[in-house]
Amino acid sequence: MSGEEGLCLFEPAGRSFKLLLKVLKVYAVEKSPYQEIIFAELDGFGKALIIDNFIQSTEADEALYHELLVHPAMVLHPKPSRVLIIGGGEGATLREVLKHNTVKEAVMVDIDPVVVEFSKKYLEHMHQGSFNDPRSRVFIMDGLKYVAEAPDKYFDVAIMDLTDPYAGEAAKPLYSEGFYRSVKRILGDNGVLVTQAGSSYFYTSEYDYVAGNIRRVFKYMAEYNIWIPSFGLNVNFIIASDTLDPRSITPGDFDKRLMERGVKTRFINGGRYNGLLMLGVLKPLH
Ligand code: SAM
Repeated sequence: MSGEEGLCLFEPAGRSFKLLLKVLKVYAVEKSPYQEIIFAELDGFGKALIIDNFIQSTEADEALYHELLVHPAMVLHPKPSRVLIIGGGEGATLREVLKHNTVKEAVMVDIDPVVVEFSKKYLEHMHQGSFNDPRSRVFIMDGLKYVAEAPDKYFDVAIMDLTDPYAGEAAKPLYSEGFYRSVKRILGDNGVLVTQAGSSYFYTSEYDYVAGNIRRVFKYMAEYNIWIPSFGLNVNFIIASDTLDPRSITPGDFDKRLMERGVKTRFINGGRYNGLLMLGVLKPLH
């Protein structure tokens, strides 16, 4: 929308809570068969990817989201070699996965060629060349189909970097119990699943639906969340495994594994992850 402030993005954030962000420059607006995609420069946040009006990531605070999505799951696995990312258009999740020197193959599956192509063109700071890493394989297809056709026990870690459970239709089936059972089939013996799960504060019932589905499928699960400034809300993550308890990693183990694997981060470390696990799930008090 435009007015006195110039061009602004009216972000849906929560159902009863909206954000108004000043847009400095629009690089591209595209409508794909799945969603409307905007690449823009936001005042105070830098370059941003916006899908169906929801900010997906901004230059200023993307590390909070991507590091918290990737590293707890990667660290929990003793030696993650084959990693699957479903969604992840910007390539930043791929970038974080590839930091672990244990990784031999990182498969990213995004449904939308427009997000991936435009991210390559406009979001160099996000992917940082990760699409060209020899360990990367990128497929443009529905993650549901990819998982249904993937071989049993192939992956060590599966990372769901999808649009929110309440935003658009493309990602909804990938938050269902049936889908988590399919993911479990393609995970190896010490397999770990992690997903972003939207905001437990503003979309509590959708969050509970996702958490309940994961709880029914995996023996161990843990929940953590963080406030992301450009989203104006807390984002929740759920990590799960049948054999590895996410709470069993001490802050010292976490930092040691990052160090041994040559991983450098901007935000996450063992102490902060432990603190976020202790925080519990943020929900409205009424
Ligand atoms: N950072 C984001 C956030 O905060 O919500 C999510 C990252 S990412 C940009 C979301 C990606 O999920 C998009 O690129 C979208 O195309 C992809 N996606 C949605 N549904 C999908 C599906 N069924 N299979 C594969 N990718 C899907």
